[in-house]
Amino acid sequence: MDKKFEIIPFSPMADIGFWSTLAKKKLEEWKLNSDPQDIFVKFKISNFTSKKAFLNLDVYSFQQWELQLQGPVEIVIQTQLKNYNTIEEFKQINYHDLFKDLTQKQISAIDNFLSGKDENLNAFIMKLVTFADLKKHNYSYKLCSPSIKVDDFNLLEKSSFKTAFNDEQKQKAFDESLKQFLKSGKISPFFYCKEVDGGKFVFGTLREYLSELETGKTNDLYGVFFDPYNQNTGTHAYFTNLLALVLKLAEQKGIKNILSNLKFILLKDSLIYNFANKYDMKNSLVVSVDLTNAKIDAESYTGCDPNQIPPSIDLKSSLDEATLATDAVDLNIKLMKWRVLPTLDLELLKSTKVLMLGAGTLGCQLSRNLIGWGIKHITFVDYGKISYSNPVRQSLYEFEDTINGGKPKAETAAEKLKKIFPDIVSKGYQIKIPMPGHYLASVEHAIETLKDVDLLEELVKEHDVLYLMTDSRESRWLPTILANKYNKICITVGLGFDSFVIVRHGLSPKVHNPEINGERLSCYFCNDVISPGNTMKDRTLDQQCTVTRPGLSFVSSAYASELLISLLHHPLKNGAPAADEIEKLPQTDLGILPQHIRGTMGEFETRVMYGRAFEHCVACSEFVLDEYLKDRDNFLQRVINDPDYLQQVTKLSELLRDLDGTDAFIEVDD
Ligand SMILES: [Zn+2]
Repeated sequence: MDKKFEIIPFSPMADIGFWSTLAKKKLEEWKLNSDPQDIFVKFKISNFTSKKAFLNLDVYSFQQWELQLQGPVEIVIQTQLKNYNTIEEFKQINYHDLFKDLTQKQISAIDNFLSGKDENLNAFIMKLVTFADLKKHNYSYKLCSPSIKVDDFNLLEKSSFKTAFNDEQKQKAFDESLKQFLKSGKISPFFYCKEVDGGKFVFGTLREYLSELETGKTNDLYGVFFDPYNQNTGTHAYFTNLLALVLKLAEQKGIKNILSNLKFILLKDSLIYNFANKYDMKNSLVVSVDLTNAKIDAESYTGCDPNQIPPSIDLKSSLDEATLATDAVDLNIKLMKWRVLPTLDLELLKSTKVLMLGAGTLGCQLSRNLIGWGIKHITFVDYGKISYSNPVRQSLYEFEDTINGGKPKAETAAEKLKKIFPDIVSKGYQIKIPMPGHYLASVEHAIETLKDVDLLEELVKEHDVLYLMTDSRESRWLPTILANKYNKICITVGLGFDSFVIVRHGLSPKVHNPEINGERLSCYFCNDVISPGNTMKDRTLDQQCTVTRPGLSFVSSAYASELLISLLHHPLKNGAPAADEIEKLPQTDLGILPQHIRGTMGEFETRVMYGRAFEHCVACSEFVLDEYLKDRDNFLQRVINDPDYLQQVTKLSELLRDLDGTDAFIEVDD
């Protein structure tokens, strides 16, 4: 072939939309499936001056295209994408074999088209192979678009369209007929046109072109190619597929005489009407080819270099950092789902709203654990401020937060969480939770307190999960009632010096159904036979401060977070039953679902236990809930000023006559 006639392959041009959609597909649909996926790519016949033939890949590449809807200047090709799971697999691709295989498929497609088995010819068989490093946002890819190698063909003539049809009238006739043909919607990269009656043009489909060739009258017959390469120095590599088609037709039909002078129009112009209402055919070519001695080399291919190293694209800088962080965290959690826990409900975790009552050592660490699981909504309630001693144990705070009297814990914890991971939705509320035994000194104080109760109720209502981690047991009393009132998951964590307790509260007596939920499970207070009075009052200094082994809050918050994730994956949620024996405990794909966990650092031991709800419990019994629902404000004021009133309400006083001694857990978490 003429050395001046270039054969140009496609240069894939994928935009950010393409890669980010690929990443999303990989994460949400394909996962570890590396089967080839259908995609739609397109090329434009444009006036864009470039030495390349671009193939566009964008966000629409992943949508099912109505192929008939393609515009006259845009050719859409359905093809395939194979995304490899590992870079090793991607690097081991044998491109020579792959190109040969694709070329064989192209030859088969031509055979099927010629035999009539396929109505249309897929003339652009190709494959995009990719590897997406989703952690680094780096994408390696190679477009495999070999075309059939046709040896020994002669380019007899190459002239510009304008020279070949230098008659104004002819050009006008060509324009008008082409317009009509394009309107018919039968657009494919290959079609034909015929000059008739010395100056008119008839256009037709590729199949009609074959019929025309079979007549042997090829003088005024032109195969037409919508040429993706828009320069007049050559053509796109897929032109050889058209040559192969004609060659095979001539062989099969015994009409080799037509091969000596075949004419083609290579349409390279944008087909945008100019001011004269004409297509401006400045780059389009008319070529004559002699295929008499030409042969298809079925063992080879053209237009693709198997040794060319696949390029890669780094999108890190193109995406904003917060999005990158979100994607990366999502990926980690999704990997857990794909590889280990297929039943992990990521949407549930994402939408679960957690209310942390207490933003101390436990609140800080627990919230960090939960965001690791993909929990996104965390609200903190804490009345305290960050003190000098806090940052070393409370993992969200720094020294800076302690100066000038210290920042409020709840708001600061929320801010810090968002700094760790901007996708988190977090807020902090400085609320003083009313507590039995913490007397209301004045009417104003009572009014303030009831306002706090209103706000707390609102928060409980809005959230799905309550963690009770405040620094005293009595401050967990009201939240326990609220969890029951609104039927929320409620988990309490308490710390001693070297021991911890975690309890997932049972259902409210109002919704508990023994047939489904088994025995009603205890709350944090069920073991108490005394009312939750003011435990702060008589504490010595060592009792008022955090005197727990530093590792304890980390161990217990770890268990408390894992307990919630397990519980969320049980179909009954907070209604999940429990049992005395580990073997009888409910199971999720994450393992057993305990109700009560106690651990001691001294023995490096953790035990799971089970507690039945106490009928006379000062917090979770029906007596208390009824009183609360009946006349909240009066009930609260009375209990706050006189905790023993609870014993009356719960008929505990009667019981106490028969009991002495308690098994109360001492709270020393700050
Ligand atoms: Zn209880």
